[in-house]
Amino acid sequence: MLETRLNFKLLEMCADCGACYNVCPSCLHIEGYDPRAVIRDILAGTHERWLTSKHIWQCLECHHCLEICFQHYGFENAMTALRTLAIKKGITPTQVKKGWDMFAKSGRLGEPSPMRKRLGLPEPPGSAKEEFLKLHSLYRESRLPRKGKV
Ligand code: SF4
Ligand code: SF4
Repeated sequence: MLETRLNFKLLEMCADCGACYNVCPSCLHIEGYDPRAVIRDILAGTHERWLTSKHIWQCLECHHCLEICFQHYGFENAMTALRTLAIKKGITPTQVKKGWDMFAKSGRLGEPSPMRKRLGLPEPPGSAKEEFLKLHSLYRESRLPRKGKV
């Protein structure tokens, strides 16, 4: 699955480069967060251990690595591909699963913090929940097998 999702040629260059370590906030501040180690394992076909690692979920998707990358490819793509694979295999951290379940049900990732009231801030705008739920249900229907089709 990773071979079809990732460009291994570009990842090979990434594994030898490492320029992003100085701009990636997770590399700079989270001990053990090491996308190049992940990429090397992907290339060697030994990436399974990362599927249960918290590190693949610590990529902030901030795109800093892609912005400075000479090939516009590397760290973020590898981390995203592993998260997708982990989800497909049902290995999802509880917090992520809760967040997704809430989003699918309500169109929101969380409720506004009570701190807003305490600080005297106005209520945030509505979440367009009804429109979201309608779109979500249309999307789900579109993925159901059609009658008469195999
Ligand atoms: S993402 Fe690009 S700049 Fe960063 S380490 Fe990989 S190849 Fe180098
Ligand atoms: S997108 Fe992920 S890997 Fe890239 S710089 Fe941000 S945190 Fe680091």
